[in-house]
Amino acid sequence: MDSDMTLKDDLWFNPSQCFIAGRWQDPLSGETLLLEDPSSGETIAEIARGQQADVDAAVSAARAAIDGDWGRATAAERGRILARLGALVLERAETLARLEARDVGKPLKQARADALALARYMEFYAGAADKLMGDTIPYLDGYTVYTLREPHGVTAHIVPWNYPMQIIGRSVGAALAAGNACVLKPAEEACLTALAFADLAREAGLPAGALNVVPGLGEEAGAALSAHSGVDHISFTGSVGVGSLIQAAAAKNIVPVTLELGGKSPQLVFDDADIDAALPFLVNAGIQNAGQTCSASSRILVQRGVYDQVLEKMAARYRELRVGPALADLDVGPLISARQKEIVEGFLARGGDLERAAEAQVVAEAPAGGHYVAPVLFARVGAGHALAQAEIFGPVQVVMPFDDEAEAVAIANGTEYGLVASVWSRDGARQMRLAKRLRAGQVFVNNYGAGGGVELPFGGVGKSGHGREKGFEALYGFTRLKTVAARHG
Ligand code: NAD
Repeated sequence: MDSDMTLKDDLWFNPSQCFIAGRWQDPLSGETLLLEDPSSGETIAEIARGQQADVDAAVSAARAAIDGDWGRATAAERGRILARLGALVLERAETLARLEARDVGKPLKQARADALALARYMEFYAGAADKLMGDTIPYLDGYTVYTLREPHGVTAHIVPWNYPMQIIGRSVGAALAAGNACVLKPAEEACLTALAFADLAREAGLPAGALNVVPGLGEEAGAALSAHSGVDHISFTGSVGVGSLIQAAAAKNIVPVTLELGGKSPQLVFDDADIDAALPFLVNAGIQNAGQTCSASSRILVQRGVYDQVLEKMAARYRELRVGPALADLDVGPLISARQKEIVEGFLARGGDLERAAEAQVVAEAPAGGHYVAPVLFARVGAGHALAQAEIFGPVQVVMPFDDEAEAVAIANGTEYGLVASVWSRDGARQMRLAKRLRAGQVFVNNYGAGGGVELPFGGVGKSGHGREKGFEALYGFTRLKTVAARHG
């Protein structure tokens, strides 16, 4: 990797435009927003400040695509375009990774994994497009009954800044495979790879209007898109507060919505676990992307017999973590913004009375304007403490003791979230029992998959949201079922 390359070398498109109806267009207001590099605090680009009129144009373009070439494309043709798009993403993976690292502030190796995941989503949904089928249903004598899986039509995709490529891949990839036309509203903090992806889709031959991208502020472009009467389905990934607004907007138009929200995901480590195998998963799941991961594992629950041993081994890893600029490719990058840093530091202050088992270090050469927070590991935190309940969205983990299985389940299930959980134990019966009892959309046994697994259905319960993305399951969410009952005698 050449970390001396400037952003300009990687920007083959103009980032201050919207992508609508297959063309790059200035936002109708002509207004732009400044994009910041979280590693330095410097402005690196101007992006379009899309508003209602741009959203209207994007929704009309999507509708025209459904009524035109894209709506008439066969499932096999849709799959072929997605396959070409996946190949283009792979070809440009290094460029995409640099753009994402710069924009989000994540270490390059993590951004590289995201670029490969984006390609994998395209490959997966390319292969799945023509395997989405209905059923035939035994019914009365003289009838033939079958179901058709039809696209919703125009789907809206509102995504956050933490994993733009992965979230676009899972949501737009599945929606296109199922035959929808998409309007994508990336986050104002990080939207470069969304724009790059749109240009690659154009190059792959995706018909005009099948994918439109309108960058802008959440309360402007995001609100306009979620309230738009021309939208038939909304897929939202982001905070609980905005998720609730989106659901209310969808309710007004009576359209289905998929919400992928936050989490406070636990890993349960029992006395009989292979602790050395668990260790990298315990720590990485907390500090990956500086803890700004919906499926971050911010709570580590450890059985009392091995508590001190696990805590000390995790602390030793924490002391070795290096925090610095994204392109330096260390273990942890900066947080996305000054605001996010302020939120995380507020939580750290609330943990002032708690035992800090270890704290990592920011490297000396990190620019002063970057939003760095050194990861902190807290010991012996009570289950009701704010640090054990709230989604901090920063590099902070709490290590909590428990005595037996029942107590572990009660603590694990004792937050308003339920996204991911994992069980570390060699006892097969316990693994099965807990997989059933844990309140989460995904349970891992002797591993933990923060964000991983293109093939694995993903989503939450409780305040973590509803609906499932990823895997084949996502295709059901991006289609509606029609039952055809033919009486032929
Ligand atoms: P956010 O909710 O503030 O923003 C997410 C998106 O919504 C952005 O594109 C933003 O512009 C838009 N938005 C903001 N206000 C809006 C409004 N009034 N109407 C319509 N759109 C609006 O979230 P964030 O701070 O960017 O992301 C962090 C949150 O996202 C965390 O809570 C995290 O857990 C969650 N998240 C969840 C997943 C998941 O898959 N479950 C993945 C990533 C992030």
